Amino acid sequence: MAFEGLTEKISSAFKHLRSKGRLTESDIKDAMKEIRMALLEADVNFKVAKDFIKTVTEKATDAEILESLSPTQQVIKIVNEELVSLLGGQTTRLTISPNPPTIVMMAGLQGAGKTTNCAKLAALLRKQQQRRPLLVACDVYRPAAIEQLKVVGKQLNIPVFDEGQGDPVEIAKHGIDFARKNGYDLVFLDTAGRLHIDEKLMDELKNIKATVKPTEIILVVDAMTGQDAVTVAQTFDEALGIDGVLMSKMDGDARGGAALSVKAVTGKPIKFIGTGEKLGDIEPFHPDRMASRILGMGDVLTLIEKAQESFDQKQAAETAKKMMAGKLTLTDFYDQLQKMKNMGSMEEMLGMLPGVDAKALAGAKIDEKQMAHTEAIIQSMTPKERDNPSIINYSRKKRIANGCGLSVEQVNKLLKQFEAMQKMTKQLTSMARSKGK
Ligand code: GDP
Repeated sequence: MAFEGLTEKISSAFKHLRSKGRLTESDIKDAMKEIRMALLEADVNFKVAKDFIKTVTEKATDAEILESLSPTQQVIKIVNEELVSLLGGQTTRLTISPNPPTIVMMAGLQGAGKTTNCAKLAALLRKQQQRRPLLVACDVYRPAAIEQLKVVGKQLNIPVFDEGQGDPVEIAKHGIDFARKNGYDLVFLDTAGRLHIDEKLMDELKNIKATVKPTEIILVVDAMTGQDAVTVAQTFDEALGIDGVLMSKMDGDARGGAALSVKAVTGKPIKFIGTGEKLGDIEPFHPDRMASRILGMGDVLTLIEKAQESFDQKQAAETAKKMMAGKLTLTDFYDQLQKMKNMGSMEEMLGMLPGVDAKALAGAKIDEKQMAHTEAIIQSMTPKERDNPSIINYSRKKRIANGCGLSVEQVNKLLKQFEAMQKMTKQLTSMARSKGK
Protein backbone atom coordinates (compact mmCIF):
# COMPACT_ATOMS: atom_id res chain seq x y z
CA MET A 1 0.00 0.00 0.00
CA ALA A 2 1.03 3.56 -0.62
CA PHE A 3 2.78 5.85 1.87
CA GLU A 4 5.06 3.24 3.49
CA GLY A 5 8.21 5.37 3.32
CA LEU A 6 6.33 8.53 4.17
CA THR A 7 4.82 7.01 7.30
CA GLU A 8 8.21 5.82 8.48
CA LYS A 9 9.91 9.16 7.90
CA ILE A 10 7.19 11.30 9.41
CA SER A 11 7.17 9.03 12.48
CA SER A 12 10.90 9.50 12.78
CA ALA A 13 10.55 13.30 12.59
CA PHE A 14 7.94 13.18 15.38
CA LYS A 15 10.19 10.91 17.44
CA HIS A 16 12.96 13.51 17.27
CA LEU A 17 10.51 16.16 18.46
CA ARG A 18 9.24 13.99 21.29
CA SER A 19 12.76 13.44 22.57
CA LYS A 20 13.09 17.17 23.12
CA GLY A 21 10.24 17.93 25.51
CA ARG A 22 10.07 21.70 25.12
CA LEU A 23 10.30 22.88 21.54
CA THR A 24 11.96 25.88 19.94
CA GLU A 25 11.30 27.36 16.53
CA SER A 26 14.45 25.76 15.23
CA ASP A 27 13.31 22.29 16.42
CA ILE A 28 10.13 22.76 14.40
CA LYS A 29 12.12 23.92 11.37
CA ASP A 30 14.35 20.80 11.59
CA ALA A 31 11.33 18.52 11.80
CA MET A 32 9.70 20.30 8.85
CA LYS A 33 12.86 19.83 6.82
CA GLU A 34 12.61 16.09 7.48
CA ILE A 35 8.93 16.03 6.52
CA ARG A 36 9.58 18.07 3.38
CA MET A 37 12.22 15.57 2.27
CA ALA A 38 9.84 12.71 3.05
CA LEU A 39 7.10 14.31 0.93
CA LEU A 40 9.46 14.84 -2.00
CA GLU A 41 10.75 11.29 -1.75
CA ALA A 42 7.12 10.13 -1.82
CA ASP A 43 6.91 11.96 -5.17
CA VAL A 44 4.63 14.74 -3.97
CA ASN A 45 4.49 17.69 -6.37
CA PHE A 46 7.25 20.16 -5.46
CA LYS A 47 5.01 23.20 -5.00
CA VAL A 48 2.44 21.20 -3.05
CA ALA A 49 5.15 20.01 -0.64
CA LYS A 50 6.52 23.54 -0.27
CA ASP A 51 3.10 25.06 0.49
CA PHE A 52 2.27 22.26 2.92
CA ILE A 53 5.48 22.82 4.91
CA LYS A 54 4.96 26.58 4.90
CA THR A 55 1.45 26.29 6.35
CA VAL A 56 2.43 23.74 9.00
CA THR A 57 5.51 25.74 10.02
CA GLU A 58 3.50 28.93 10.40
CA LYS A 59 0.90 27.23 12.56
CA ALA A 60 3.37 25.18 14.60
CA THR A 61 5.75 28.02 15.46
CA ASP A 62 2.94 29.99 17.05
CA ALA A 63 4.03 30.95 20.58
CA GLU A 64 0.95 29.37 22.10
CA ILE A 65 1.83 26.00 20.58
CA LEU A 66 5.48 26.16 21.59
CA GLU A 67 4.59 27.03 25.17
CA SER A 68 1.81 24.50 25.52
CA LEU A 69 2.13 21.50 27.81
CA SER A 70 2.49 18.95 25.01
CA PRO A 71 3.90 20.85 22.02
CA THR A 72 4.77 17.73 19.98
CA GLN A 73 1.19 16.50 20.25
CA GLN A 74 0.04 19.88 18.98
CA VAL A 75 2.44 19.71 16.04
CA ILE A 76 1.20 16.22 15.16
CA LYS A 77 -2.35 17.53 15.32
CA ILE A 78 -1.49 20.35 12.92
CA VAL A 79 0.26 17.98 10.48
CA ASN A 80 -2.77 15.70 10.63
CA GLU A 81 -5.22 18.53 9.93
CA GLU A 82 -3.13 19.83 7.03
CA LEU A 83 -2.80 16.30 5.57
CA VAL A 84 -6.57 15.86 5.70
CA SER A 85 -6.97 19.19 3.95
CA LEU A 86 -4.33 18.28 1.34
CA LEU A 87 -6.14 15.02 0.60
CA GLY A 88 -9.36 16.93 -0.02
CA GLY A 89 -10.83 17.73 3.41
CA GLN A 90 -14.28 16.17 3.49
CA THR A 91 -15.15 12.79 1.96
CA THR A 92 -16.71 13.55 -1.44
CA ARG A 93 -19.36 11.11 -2.52
CA LEU A 94 -20.65 10.34 -5.97
CA THR A 95 -23.51 12.67 -6.89
CA ILE A 96 -26.76 10.83 -7.40
CA SER A 97 -29.21 12.36 -9.85
CA PRO A 98 -32.72 13.10 -8.53
CA ASN A 99 -34.02 11.91 -11.91
CA PRO A 100 -32.67 8.41 -12.44
CA PRO A 101 -30.65 7.05 -13.98
CA THR A 102 -27.52 8.63 -12.57
CA ILE A 103 -25.04 8.66 -15.45
CA VAL A 104 -21.38 8.21 -14.59
CA MET A 105 -18.98 8.73 -17.47
CA MET A 106 -15.71 6.95 -16.79
CA ALA A 107 -12.68 8.36 -18.59
CA GLY A 108 -8.96 7.65 -18.52
CA LEU A 109 -5.90 6.60 -20.45
CA GLN A 110 -5.52 3.03 -21.66
CA GLY A 111 -4.32 0.73 -18.93
CA ALA A 112 -5.28 3.11 -16.10
CA GLY A 113 -7.86 0.57 -14.94
CA LYS A 114 -11.01 2.16 -16.35
CA THR A 115 -12.84 -0.97 -17.45
CA THR A 116 -12.17 -3.00 -14.31
CA ASN A 117 -12.93 -0.10 -12.01
CA CYS A 118 -16.21 0.65 -13.85
CA ALA A 119 -17.38 -2.79 -12.78
CA LYS A 120 -15.83 -2.56 -9.29
CA LEU A 121 -17.55 0.76 -8.64
CA ALA A 122 -20.89 -0.49 -9.95
CA ALA A 123 -20.69 -3.48 -7.59
CA LEU A 124 -19.66 -1.29 -4.65
CA LEU A 125 -22.62 1.06 -5.08
CA ARG A 126 -24.99 -1.84 -5.61
CA LYS A 127 -23.85 -3.25 -2.27
CA GLN A 128 -23.61 -0.01 -0.30
CA GLN A 129 -26.56 1.90 -1.73
CA GLN A 130 -28.73 -0.89 -3.17
CA ARG A 131 -28.51 0.60 -6.68
CA ARG A 132 -29.28 -1.26 -9.92
CA PRO A 133 -26.26 -0.61 -12.16
CA LEU A 134 -25.82 -1.07 -15.91
CA LEU A 135 -22.47 -0.97 -17.70
CA VAL A 136 -22.37 0.50 -21.21
CA ALA A 137 -19.52 -0.46 -23.55
CA CYS A 138 -18.49 2.75 -25.35
CA ASP A 139 -14.84 1.80 -25.97
CA VAL A 140 -15.22 0.67 -29.57
CA TYR A 141 -11.55 0.95 -30.58
CA ARG A 142 -9.65 -1.44 -28.35
CA PRO A 143 -10.83 -4.76 -29.76
CA ALA A 144 -10.83 -6.59 -26.43
CA ALA A 145 -12.45 -3.79 -24.40
CA ILE A 146 -16.09 -4.80 -24.96
CA GLU A 147 -15.29 -8.43 -24.25
CA GLN A 148 -13.39 -7.46 -21.09
CA LEU A 149 -16.32 -5.41 -19.80
CA LYS A 150 -18.64 -8.34 -20.45
CA VAL A 151 -16.30 -10.69 -18.58
CA VAL A 152 -16.09 -8.51 -15.46
CA GLY A 153 -19.82 -7.74 -15.69
CA LYS A 154 -20.57 -11.46 -15.76
CA GLN A 155 -18.29 -12.15 -12.80
CA LEU A 156 -20.14 -9.56 -10.73
CA ASN A 157 -23.53 -10.32 -12.20
CA ILE A 158 -23.94 -6.79 -13.60
CA PRO A 159 -25.56 -6.46 -17.05
CA VAL A 160 -23.57 -4.94 -19.90
CA PHE A 161 -25.13 -3.01 -22.80
CA ASP A 162 -23.17 -3.09 -26.06
CA GLU A 163 -23.70 -2.55 -29.78
CA GLY A 164 -20.33 -3.81 -30.99
CA GLN A 165 -18.03 -1.40 -32.78
CA GLY A 166 -20.63 1.34 -33.48
CA ASP A 167 -20.62 5.09 -32.79
CA PRO A 168 -19.78 5.65 -29.09
CA VAL A 169 -22.12 8.65 -28.76
CA GLU A 170 -25.06 6.65 -30.14
CA ILE A 171 -24.19 3.63 -27.98
CA ALA A 172 -24.13 5.84 -24.87
CA LYS A 173 -27.56 7.28 -25.78
CA HIS A 174 -29.05 3.87 -26.50
CA GLY A 175 -27.55 2.45 -23.30
CA ILE A 176 -29.17 5.18 -21.22
CA ASP A 177 -32.54 4.64 -22.96
CA PHE A 178 -32.22 0.94 -22.23
CA ALA A 179 -31.51 1.70 -18.55
CA ARG A 180 -34.54 3.99 -18.31
CA LYS A 181 -36.85 1.40 -19.86
CA ASN A 182 -35.55 -1.43 -17.72
CA GLY A 183 -35.33 0.22 -14.31
CA TYR A 184 -31.54 0.55 -14.00
CA ASP A 185 -30.83 3.62 -11.86
CA LEU A 186 -27.05 3.85 -12.28
CA VAL A 187 -25.34 3.81 -15.67
CA PHE A 188 -21.58 3.60 -16.14
CA LEU A 189 -20.22 4.58 -19.55
CA ASP A 190 -16.92 2.82 -20.19
CA THR A 191 -15.39 5.25 -22.68
CA ALA A 192 -12.35 4.76 -24.90
CA GLY A 193 -8.83 5.39 -23.69
CA ARG A 194 -5.65 6.06 -25.64
CA LEU A 195 -2.04 5.57 -24.75
CA HIS A 196 -1.59 9.35 -24.74
CA ILE A 197 -3.95 12.26 -24.58
CA ASP A 198 -4.86 13.39 -28.10
CA GLU A 199 -7.37 15.70 -29.67
CA LYS A 200 -9.45 12.94 -31.22
CA LEU A 201 -9.95 11.27 -27.85
CA MET A 202 -10.92 14.54 -26.18
CA ASP A 203 -13.33 15.45 -29.01
CA GLU A 204 -15.08 12.12 -28.67
CA LEU A 205 -15.38 12.47 -24.90
CA LYS A 206 -16.65 16.04 -25.28
CA ASN A 207 -19.27 14.79 -27.75
CA ILE A 208 -20.47 12.13 -25.35
CA LYS A 209 -20.57 14.68 -22.53
CA ALA A 210 -22.55 17.21 -24.60
CA THR A 211 -25.04 14.60 -25.78
CA VAL A 212 -25.79 12.59 -22.64
CA LYS A 213 -25.03 15.26 -20.00
CA PRO A 214 -23.59 12.83 -17.44
CA THR A 215 -24.28 13.37 -13.74
CA GLU A 216 -20.57 12.92 -13.08
CA ILE A 217 -17.37 12.42 -15.02
CA ILE A 218 -14.92 10.28 -13.08
CA LEU A 219 -11.35 10.11 -14.31
CA VAL A 220 -9.43 6.92 -13.58
CA VAL A 221 -5.71 7.51 -13.09
CA ASP A 222 -2.99 5.03 -12.20
CA ALA A 223 -1.34 5.86 -8.85
CA MET A 224 1.79 4.01 -9.92
CA THR A 225 2.53 6.63 -12.58
CA GLY A 226 3.12 9.23 -9.84
CA GLN A 227 3.18 12.84 -11.00
CA ASP A 228 2.19 11.78 -14.56
CA ALA A 229 -1.19 10.82 -13.07
CA VAL A 230 -1.52 14.35 -11.72
CA THR A 231 -0.64 15.87 -15.11
CA VAL A 232 -3.17 13.60 -16.82
CA ALA A 233 -5.85 14.69 -14.34
CA GLN A 234 -5.03 18.33 -14.92
CA THR A 235 -5.18 17.95 -18.72
CA PHE A 236 -8.47 16.04 -18.68
CA ASP A 237 -9.96 18.58 -16.30
CA GLU A 238 -8.96 21.53 -18.45
CA ALA A 239 -10.15 19.93 -21.70
CA LEU A 240 -13.23 18.03 -20.58
CA GLY A 241 -14.04 19.06 -17.02
CA ILE A 242 -14.06 16.24 -14.50
CA ASP A 243 -15.96 15.89 -11.21
CA GLY A 244 -13.66 13.54 -9.39
CA VAL A 245 -10.85 11.04 -9.59
CA LEU A 246 -10.71 7.31 -9.04
CA MET A 247 -7.11 6.57 -8.16
CA SER A 248 -6.39 2.98 -9.17
CA LYS A 249 -3.52 0.68 -8.17
CA MET A 250 -2.89 2.29 -4.78
CA ASP A 251 -1.75 -1.18 -3.69
CA GLY A 252 1.13 -1.15 -6.15
CA ASP A 253 2.36 2.33 -5.34
CA ALA A 254 4.75 2.46 -2.41
CA ARG A 255 5.07 6.25 -2.50
CA GLY A 256 1.64 7.85 -2.72
CA GLY A 257 2.69 11.19 -4.23
CA ALA A 258 -0.12 11.26 -6.81
CA ALA A 259 -2.80 10.80 -4.17
CA LEU A 260 -1.29 13.59 -2.10
CA SER A 261 -0.98 16.06 -4.97
CA VAL A 262 -4.02 15.62 -7.18
CA LYS A 263 -6.53 17.68 -5.18
CA ALA A 264 -4.12 20.55 -4.59
CA VAL A 265 -3.08 20.68 -8.26
CA THR A 266 -6.44 20.12 -9.99
CA GLY A 267 -8.93 21.17 -7.32
CA LYS A 268 -10.81 17.93 -8.01
CA PRO A 269 -11.28 15.38 -5.22
CA ILE A 270 -10.35 11.72 -5.17
CA LYS A 271 -13.65 9.92 -4.70
CA PHE A 272 -12.54 6.27 -4.81
CA ILE A 273 -9.34 4.25 -4.66
CA GLY A 274 -8.53 0.92 -6.29
CA THR A 275 -6.63 -1.26 -3.86
CA GLY A 276 -5.95 -4.49 -5.74
CA GLU A 277 -6.64 -6.67 -8.75
CA LYS A 278 -9.66 -8.45 -7.31
CA LEU A 279 -13.08 -7.07 -8.21
CA GLY A 280 -13.86 -6.26 -4.58
CA ASP A 281 -10.71 -4.18 -4.21
CA ILE A 282 -12.17 -0.68 -4.21
CA GLU A 283 -12.89 1.78 -1.39
CA PRO A 284 -14.54 5.17 -1.08
CA PHE A 285 -11.80 7.68 -0.36
CA HIS A 286 -11.86 9.28 3.09
CA PRO A 287 -9.20 12.01 3.50
CA ASP A 288 -9.29 11.82 7.31
CA ARG A 289 -8.83 8.06 7.39
CA MET A 290 -6.05 8.22 4.80
CA ALA A 291 -4.22 10.91 6.79
CA SER A 292 -4.52 8.68 9.82
CA ARG A 293 -2.97 5.78 7.87
CA ILE A 294 -0.15 8.02 6.67
CA LEU A 295 0.63 9.10 10.23
CA GLY A 296 0.77 5.46 11.34
CA MET A 297 -2.39 5.86 13.41
CA GLY A 298 -4.24 3.20 11.43
CA ASP A 299 -7.67 3.20 9.88
CA VAL A 300 -9.81 1.21 12.25
CA LEU A 301 -13.08 2.56 10.80
CA THR A 302 -12.42 1.07 7.36
CA LEU A 303 -11.34 -2.19 8.96
CA ILE A 304 -14.61 -2.38 10.92
CA GLU A 305 -16.64 -1.60 7.81
CA LYS A 306 -14.88 -4.34 5.87
CA ALA A 307 -15.52 -6.79 8.69
CA GLN A 308 -19.20 -5.82 8.80
CA GLU A 309 -19.50 -6.33 5.05
CA SER A 310 -17.85 -9.74 5.17
CA PHE A 311 -19.30 -11.20 8.34
CA ASP A 312 -22.95 -11.85 8.89
CA GLN A 313 -23.63 -10.81 12.52
CA LYS A 314 -26.05 -13.66 13.25
CA GLN A 315 -23.75 -16.27 11.79
CA ALA A 316 -20.78 -14.81 13.67
CA ALA A 317 -22.70 -15.15 16.96
CA GLU A 318 -23.49 -18.79 16.14
CA THR A 319 -19.85 -19.52 15.35
CA ALA A 320 -18.77 -17.92 18.62
CA LYS A 321 -21.28 -20.07 20.51
CA LYS A 322 -20.00 -23.23 18.83
CA MET A 323 -16.44 -22.19 19.61
CA MET A 324 -17.20 -21.70 23.26
CA ALA A 325 -18.83 -25.10 23.44
CA GLY A 326 -15.71 -26.60 21.84
CA LYS A 327 -17.83 -27.70 18.87
CA LEU A 328 -16.17 -25.74 16.11
CA THR A 329 -15.63 -27.93 13.04
CA LEU A 330 -13.12 -27.56 10.24
CA THR A 331 -16.04 -26.51 8.02
CA ASP A 332 -16.65 -23.49 10.30
CA PHE A 333 -12.95 -22.80 10.35
CA TYR A 334 -12.85 -22.88 6.52
CA ASP A 335 -15.85 -20.52 6.34
CA GLN A 336 -14.06 -18.04 8.60
CA LEU A 337 -10.95 -18.21 6.42
CA GLN A 338 -13.03 -17.43 3.32
CA LYS A 339 -14.61 -14.43 5.03
CA MET A 340 -11.26 -13.11 6.10
CA LYS A 341 -10.14 -13.38 2.50
CA ASN A 342 -13.13 -11.33 1.39
CA MET A 343 -12.00 -8.56 3.70
CA GLY A 344 -8.81 -8.13 1.71
CA SER A 345 -5.24 -9.27 2.02
CA MET A 346 -3.68 -9.79 5.44
CA GLU A 347 -1.14 -7.14 4.54
CA GLU A 348 -3.79 -4.57 3.73
CA MET A 349 -5.74 -5.32 6.91
CA LEU A 350 -2.68 -5.08 9.12
CA GLY A 351 -1.81 -1.79 7.45
CA MET A 352 -5.05 -0.40 8.85
CA LEU A 353 -4.14 -1.16 12.43
CA PRO A 354 -2.47 1.62 14.41
CA GLY A 355 1.25 1.29 14.93
CA VAL A 356 1.88 -1.59 12.52
CA ASP A 357 5.07 -0.87 10.63
CA ALA A 358 6.29 -2.04 7.25
CA LYS A 359 8.62 -4.63 8.79
CA ALA A 360 5.74 -6.39 10.49
CA LEU A 361 3.96 -6.54 7.15
CA ALA A 362 6.77 -8.58 5.59
CA GLY A 363 5.86 -11.41 8.00
CA ALA A 364 2.19 -11.16 7.09
CA LYS A 365 2.94 -12.14 3.51
CA ILE A 366 4.21 -15.53 4.63
CA ASP A 367 1.03 -16.05 6.61
CA GLU A 368 -1.01 -15.68 3.47
CA LYS A 369 0.82 -18.61 1.92
CA GLN A 370 0.12 -20.57 5.08
CA MET A 371 -3.54 -19.65 4.81
CA ALA A 372 -3.65 -20.95 1.22
CA HIS A 373 -2.17 -24.27 2.42
CA THR A 374 -4.71 -24.54 5.22
CA GLU A 375 -7.47 -23.89 2.74
CA ALA A 376 -6.16 -26.50 0.29
CA ILE A 377 -5.92 -29.14 3.03
CA ILE A 378 -9.47 -28.53 4.26
CA GLN A 379 -10.79 -28.53 0.69
CA SER A 380 -9.21 -31.92 0.17
CA MET A 381 -11.19 -33.45 3.08
CA THR A 382 -14.62 -35.03 2.85
CA PRO A 383 -17.51 -33.24 4.66
CA LYS A 384 -17.51 -36.02 7.26
CA GLU A 385 -13.80 -35.49 7.99
CA ARG A 386 -14.30 -31.73 8.32
CA ASP A 387 -17.10 -32.20 10.84
CA ASN A 388 -15.28 -34.86 12.80
CA PRO A 389 -11.49 -34.62 12.37
CA SER A 390 -10.93 -37.44 14.88
CA ILE A 391 -11.77 -40.01 12.15
CA ILE A 392 -8.79 -38.90 10.08
CA ASN A 393 -6.40 -41.86 10.31
CA TYR A 394 -3.10 -42.30 8.48
CA SER A 395 -4.58 -43.54 5.19
CA ARG A 396 -7.05 -40.64 5.15
CA LYS A 397 -4.20 -38.22 5.87
CA LYS A 398 -2.28 -39.65 2.93
CA ARG A 399 -5.27 -39.25 0.64
CA ILE A 400 -5.82 -35.65 1.81
CA ALA A 401 -2.14 -34.79 1.31
CA ASN A 402 -2.16 -36.27 -2.19
CA GLY A 403 -5.34 -34.41 -3.03
CA CYS A 404 -3.87 -31.00 -2.26
CA GLY A 405 -0.28 -31.62 -3.27
CA LEU A 406 1.08 -31.15 0.26
CA SER A 407 2.75 -33.54 2.70
CA VAL A 408 1.25 -35.70 5.46
CA GLU A 409 3.32 -33.64 7.93
CA GLN A 410 1.55 -30.50 6.78
CA VAL A 411 -1.84 -32.18 7.22
CA ASN A 412 -0.76 -33.31 10.70
CA LYS A 413 0.36 -29.83 11.60
CA LEU A 414 -2.98 -28.32 10.69
CA LEU A 415 -4.91 -30.96 12.63
CA LYS A 416 -2.72 -30.40 15.69
CA GLN A 417 -3.20 -26.64 15.45
CA PHE A 418 -6.94 -27.06 15.15
CA GLU A 419 -7.00 -29.41 18.15
CA ALA A 420 -4.93 -26.97 20.20
CA MET A 421 -7.24 -24.13 19.24
CA GLN A 422 -10.28 -26.11 20.34
CA LYS A 423 -8.64 -26.99 23.64
CA MET A 424 -7.67 -23.40 24.25
CA THR A 425 -11.14 -22.01 23.54
CA LYS A 426 -12.64 -24.65 25.85
CA GLN A 427 -10.21 -23.67 28.61
CA LEU A 428 -10.80 -19.96 28.10
CA THR A 429 -14.54 -20.49 28.17
CA SER A 430 -14.47 -22.50 31.38
CA MET A 431 -12.13 -19.91 32.95
CA ALA A 432 -14.51 -17.15 31.96
CA ARG A 433 -17.45 -19.13 33.34
CA SER A 434 -15.80 -19.81 36.71
CA LYS A 435 -14.83 -16.14 36.96
CA GLY A 436 -18.39 -15.16 36.28
CA LYS A 437 -19.64 -17.33 39.18
P1 GDP B 1 -8.29 0.28 -19.01
O1 GDP B 1 -7.45 0.11 -20.22
O2 GDP B 1 -8.14 1.64 -18.42
O3 GDP B 1 -9.71 -0.11 -19.18
O4 GDP B 1 -7.65 -0.65 -17.89
P2 GDP B 1 -8.08 -2.08 -17.36
O5 GDP B 1 -9.35 -1.96 -16.61
O6 GDP B 1 -8.01 -3.06 -18.45
O7 GDP B 1 -6.93 -2.33 -16.28
C1 GDP B 1 -5.57 -2.51 -16.63
C2 GDP B 1 -4.90 -3.46 -15.64
O8 GDP B 1 -4.83 -2.86 -14.36
C3 GDP B 1 -5.67 -4.75 -15.45
O9 GDP B 1 -4.74 -5.81 -15.44
C4 GDP B 1 -6.33 -4.59 -14.08
O10 GDP B 1 -6.51 -5.83 -13.42
C5 GDP B 1 -5.31 -3.74 -13.37
N1 GDP B 1 -5.91 -2.95 -12.25
C6 GDP B 1 -6.95 -2.11 -12.28
N2 GDP B 1 -7.17 -1.55 -11.07
C7 GDP B 1 -6.23 -2.04 -10.25
C8 GDP B 1 -5.90 -1.82 -8.86
O11 GDP B 1 -6.52 -1.03 -8.13
N3 GDP B 1 -4.81 -2.53 -8.39
C9 GDP B 1 -4.09 -3.38 -9.17
N4 GDP B 1 -3.06 -4.02 -8.62
N5 GDP B 1 -4.36 -3.57 -10.46
C10 GDP B 1 -5.41 -2.94 -11.00
